[in-house]
Amino acid sequence: MTAAAGEQPDSPVPPGTGWPDDPATAATPVAEDAAAVRRLAATAGTLAELTARQSVCRACPRLVEWREQVAREKRRSFASERYWGRPIPGWGAERPRVLIMGLAPAAHGGNRTGRVFTGDRSGDVLYASLWRTGLAAQETSITAGDGQRLLGARMVAAVRCAPPQNKPTVSERDTCAPWLTAEFALVAGDLRSIVCLGHFAWQATWPLLAEAGLDVPRPRPAFGHGAEALVPRRDGESLLVIGCYHPSQQNTFTGRVTGVMLDDVFRRARLHAGM
Ligand code: SF4
Repeated sequence: MTAAAGEQPDSPVPPGTGWPDDPATAATPVAEDAAAVRRLAATAGTLAELTARQSVCRACPRLVEWREQVAREKRRSFASERYWGRPIPGWGAERPRVLIMGLAPAAHGGNRTGRVFTGDRSGDVLYASLWRTGLAAQETSITAGDGQRLLGARMVAAVRCAPPQNKPTVSERDTCAPWLTAEFALVAGDLRSIVCLGHFAWQATWPLLAEAGLDVPRPRPAFGHGAEALVPRRDGESLLVIGCYHPSQQNTFTGRVTGVMLDDVFRRARLHAGM
């Protein structure tokens, strides 16, 4: 869809144009390649600036094309809505005790609403569990600006743009990694538990912790629902990494993962985090 002269384009949403919780402005610097991601992530300085820079990144040509194409064409049921169509920045507490790692935003979920796991069935199941276990303020997460908050928790995606078939490439994961590394460095001071939603998030966690200078287990622990590994922190505390089956539509429809199973994982994460 092309905007008429003087009008804002419908979707994707231009930075700083009033979308709820948009961290960026028109002046936020844009990473156009992997080297720029490394540079802009390392020099952001504050969490607010980092999330702003994440939210306008254009370093992966395939993902930029896909996220914006989806935002322009839309799903029929959302045809009257604007789509965010940009990377999904980290969201939640600035000093979390629990970090929730996902794979990547969904084309018509996070890519539409601008908030991770918000506006799709995976998010419905996930946020209901977070609410039951005291990590979210509301049972549902429908859209940015709906009043939802994470309580002592933060949510991030290993890859911040919606990928075709939900499958980012290794190169795209590696290009996006500096955003995650920089975010972890800024928020991990009180962190005690990391919940990895799915195998991809589990795999992305170990290099992240190694990059942060932590002593990660070798060989790396195998992923499974409820799998656990303890990683010593430099302050003498420990970080508990927990595997959790991804609450994808397929996994919840087939019963591979249930609300009770998610609740158990988040209660375990809370317990270790002293919450
Ligand atoms: S996936 Fe990450 S690095 Fe690639 S364009 Fe999106 S935000 Fe930038």
